This record gives sequence, C-alpha cells and structure tokens, in this order.
Amino acid sequence: MSDIAHHLQQVQAQIATAAGKAGRAPDEIQLLAVSKTKPLSAIQEAYAAGQRRFGESYAQEAVLKVQAAQAAGLEIEWHFIGPLQSNKTRPVAAHFDWVDSVDRLKIAERLNEQRPDSLPPLNVCIQVNISGESQKSGTTDAAVFDLARAISALPRLRLRGLMAIAENTDDEGAIQRSFSQLHDLFVHLHESFPSMDTLSMGMTQDLEIAVASGSTQVRIGTAIFGAREYRQE
Ligand SMILES: *Cc1c(COP(=O)(O)O)cnc(C)c1O
Repeated sequence: MSDIAHHLQQVQAQIATAAGKAGRAPDEIQLLAVSKTKPLSAIQEAYAAGQRRFGESYAQEAVLKVQAAQAAGLEIEWHFIGPLQSNKTRPVAAHFDWVDSVDRLKIAERLNEQRPDSLPPLNVCIQVNISGESQKSGTTDAAVFDLARAISALPRLRLRGLMAIAENTDDEGAIQRSFSQLHDLFVHLHESFPSMDTLSMGMTQDLEIAVASGSTQVRIGTAIFGAREYRQE
C-alpha cells in the first residue's frame, strides 16, 4: 500500500472514531482531500485508494491540475477552497464543481455569470470568518444571511453551506466554541435555505473538534499528503 493510501485509511479511521464519540454515523462526514501544492501523481495515488473529492486553493495551479486529471481520465469532484480574487473567477467557474470559499457578493455574481451553460449549477459555500482575525478571509456572522439570500437568487449557483477555518491557536476550547457557534449559525440558516446541507470545518489539526461540533465535511491536506512547502500565489 502507498503512503498516501495508508494515510487516507488513518484519516478515515480518525473520522470514524471522532464520529462514534459524538454519537454520529461516520458517513455523515465527507472527506475532502486537500491537494494544493502536491503533484498530479499524489492525486492519482489517493484516487487509486478510492478518494474522489479533492480541494485546491491556488487558482492557476488548480486549473492546470484539474485539466491534467481530466486528461488522465480521473472522475473527481473538485472544490475550490482558497481566497478568490475577482480576476480569477472565470477559470474557477469553468473547472470546478464547488467553490467553498465565497465570501462576498461580487465573487458570487461573477461565478454565476461565468459558469458555462454546458455545466450544472456551481455548488457554493459561504466562508465565514469565525476566528475574528481581521486578515482571515470570510464574511461576518452579521452579513451571512444577506449573502445567503443573494446567492440563492442566482440561477447558476447552488447554495450548499458554510465553510470556516479555525483560529490558529493551541486553545482547543476556543476552537470548539467557534465551531459550535458556526454550527448554530448553520442550523439557523438551514431553516431559511434548505438547500444548505454542508458544514465544512475541520483540518488536520482540528478534525476531532470539528466532527464533535457537527462538521459534515473535513478538509484534510497534511495528514494525507504530508507537509507542504510554504507558498503564496
Ligand atoms: C490548506 C487548507 C486545508 C488543509 O489544511 P491541513 O492543515 O493541511 O489539513 C484546509 N482548508 C483550507 C481552506 C486550506 O487552505
């Protein structure tokens, strides 16, 4: 078995354990494999081990990989999870199945306009800044309802949920509180927007807390593919 296949099994086991502790079924939590900065060969290894959902963060790199994976015959559900600038929306609208990191209306409107007619509507999650760190992407709790209403009126988008990145801290209590708050917000929004079925929270460092707090999608890079070299697009 390859290292990546082995790591995938470990992460699946970690999700199952965390779900069991929280009284949840493991299949309530989807695993998004975050392959940013990693080569196509790593994606192929994970794919061969059965992984079908992948996340990428850097638009230029991501589009090349999506195209290469398609050429290699891989049938992947691609999620764009990084900060998205308005001049990069077009290739993302054309090559991804999901954008999990929509944080303002302008980006949603461009994705809606640029989504090719030949493809089904683009699934989107609203990224919420739960960390309170001003340099982090994401809309505020106060603005999320209006953004959800605006997105659900756009015909080429399908509002699917919320996404957040926890504060970078060792304080597990603080992470747990911010994840629980996001879960409450998700449950509340779901009453008005029933198409929302995805609560994307949890990364390598905080997977267990996220599953305990109601996450339906964890986004895992390091634990599957190993450490990344630092980079910025
Ligand atoms: C890189 C990234 C991840 C994966 O992080 P790991 O700590 O490597 O698991 C998850 N979500 C987002 C938005 C990311 O940019």
